Amino acid sequence: MGVQLTTLSEWLTKNPKLLVFTGAGSSADSGIATFRGDTGLWENHDVDVVANGYTWRDNFEKIRNFYNSRRTQLSTVSPNSIHYAIADWQKRYDSLVITQNIDDLLERAGCTDVVHVHGVLTMMKCVACGNTWDIGYTEWGADDRCGCGSRKGVRPNVVFFNEDAPEYAKMYRAFSKARDPNDCVVVIGTSGQVIAVDEMLIGSKALKIVNNLESSKYINENMYDSVLFGRASETAEQLSSIISKHIGI
Ligand code: NAD
Ligand code: ZN
Repeated sequence: MGVQLTTLSEWLTKNPKLLVFTGAGSSADSGIATFRGDTGLWENHDVDVVANGYTWRDNFEKIRNFYNSRRTQLSTVSPNSIHYAIADWQKRYDSLVITQNIDDLLERAGCTDVVHVHGVLTMMKCVACGNTWDIGYTEWGADDRCGCGSRKGVRPNVVFFNEDAPEYAKMYRAFSKARDPNDCVVVIGTSGQVIAVDEMLIGSKALKIVNNLESSKYINENMYDSVLFGRASETAEQLSSIISKHIGI
């Protein structure tokens, strides 16, 4: 299933009662590794090599191989109960779902209009002509080219470190909308190191919930009304219950 991307104008019309913000930890129980601690490793690769906006051209082959492997892996894993829970919340409540993940497990669980602030693994882009396209779970070959003829301008349509993230505008907008006492913000499986989620919650009166495996020095637990430690797939039910009580449906 391809990931459907919404435009900013479609996004601005939305008025969420529930805002869901996920990170790599939400897909960990499906078998996709997170960035581990401070080591900066992702599937045993240095993120500075495989996700660096300054040096990606120098590491072209490594990046091609790394993301080909990630795509192949993605075809072999399945959504877990947190992805299905989020899809269920989306059907019940006026909600917005934002993910830092480049996998498509939320969509495969039934979510729609997910904002992928760091791009999508199944898509490629050509920096020579600006074209983007979906290649599903297939490999990108060493000699494959964009329709414009470029070979070395083609890369995964994901945001590397040191690059602009155009979808952040939607994320900031969503966090600025879900701030009333009746609203609910659920943060799942993110260390807060790449995106400082706490900063977007300063002054928010919404019910704020965070679920991670363990404490992170980039997340201030005092800012949250509920702090749940444990596997996201196992806390899904508890999260559903807290949200349902708060939103009152
Ligand atoms: P992170 O790797 O920095 O932190 C992961 C967080 O998830 C930690 O706080 C950890 O306690 C928690 N966690 C780990 N296993 C969990 C589980 N089973 N249940 C609940 N929580 C769990 O992740 P991040 O903050 O999302 O930042 C990583 C960046 O790397 C993102 O920008 C993302 O684009 C990229 N990334 C994406 C994927 C993916 O698409 N699935 C995987 C790895 C990295
Ligand atoms: Zn091109």
